Amino acid sequence: MKYRNLGDIEFVNLLYTSADRLDEEYLDEAQRRRETLVPLLCEVLENEKNYEWDSAGRWWSTVHAVQILGILGDARAMGALLTASAYADIHDLEWIWEALPECYARIGTAALPPIMEAFRERMREGGTSLGAEMEGLWNLWEDHPDSRQKIEDFFLSLLESDETPFDVKADIVADFSQMHRTDLKPFFEELFESGELDLEVFTRDDMEEFYSGVKSTPVYRMDLRGFYGTRETEARRAFLEREQEEQNQRDLETFLRDNVHRIGRNDPCPCGSGNKFKNCHLERAEEAARKFREEELRQEPARALREALYAERRLESEIRRFLARKGLTSLFSRLKESVLEAVLDPREESMKKRFWSYFNPLLERIPFDDDEEMKDFNGLFLEYYNAIAALYLHYPKEKEHLDA
Ligand SMILES: [Zn+2]
Repeated sequence: MKYRNLGDIEFVNLLYTSADRLDEEYLDEAQRRRETLVPLLCEVLENEKNYEWDSAGRWWSTVHAVQILGILGDARAMGALLTASAYADIHDLEWIWEALPECYARIGTAALPPIMEAFRERMREGGTSLGAEMEGLWNLWEDHPDSRQKIEDFFLSLLESDETPFDVKADIVADFSQMHRTDLKPFFEELFESGELDLEVFTRDDMEEFYSGVKSTPVYRMDLRGFYGTRETEARRAFLEREQEEQNQRDLETFLRDNVHRIGRNDPCPCGSGNKFKNCHLERAEEAARKFREEELRQEPARALREALYAERRLESEIRRFLARKGLTSLFSRLKESVLEAVLDPREESMKKRFWSYFNPLLERIPFDDDEEMKDFNGLFLEYYNAIAALYLHYPKEKEHLDA
């Protein structure tokens, strides 16, 4: 009963000052005030300032507002929840992402049109995936068999649209693969062939693994009310405290490691012990700096490999898309064969002289619009060649993945 006598504004203001200490009684009172409360909670979410990190934990107001709007399951909240989703991305508020898919599910099928519209708008702007909204759609798919066809059709329309970025298409294909939708597999193969999927997000091998792995729907469920249980709140508080402590320790170690030569031996140690640096953390900091340099050198080849692998995937998609536009989808595998042949040719010296002779018979089949287009494509192709050559140079033994 402790909240009964508060005015609505006072009641909402508790969100700003309670940090993580809201209780279940607050939720009951929120239910009772539902009609007047929903617009006030939406206002909390519309103000970007509320998401900014501060030590007093004012940003908790946005986490609570999302959770409570989800518990209330009120369709009036849709606009504010979508706004919260965008701000949570900017300000890195994980608890909001985690709650949103369930919030959309609580609102029910009334959430479908606004989510779909938000998706289309984001795609038109060339934006990235709406992760929480995707999971929300799958939650709704699970809860409402009558709406399944509509939701699937929506995802398929995104796959067919030219406006959808390739990483988003890859996410969608990953979801259907996880559901073992064999009926759609030939379509997905086609998308891979024409370079429509971002290979850094999802490769053809990944797809095979998903189809042969455990079949499941990519839902993301959460117990919104359980978030406010005494045990959960206590566990969260302990977790945050531990995190903070570990973060402070890591910050100190990094600072000491990076500044070991700038701190005087006789200066007070930055750890705050009151001892001189030379009698406190100096030795450990020198050791940490040495290990750090060693580790960097050790990881250099792996880094080069990773970069070459990313470049290979990105360029493969670009070349595939170019060829698809020219109606030459099948030319890609032959071009790749010729690149491998050139890279593996033992007559390295002569190779340099007749480099283009490996590829010209294939490249001549491409009807370029003009010299400019040809020059652009050749540049792209050369980059692709270099990426593959780099992969062989750094890791000649691990070339098998190139043959996939
Ligand atoms: Zn110290």
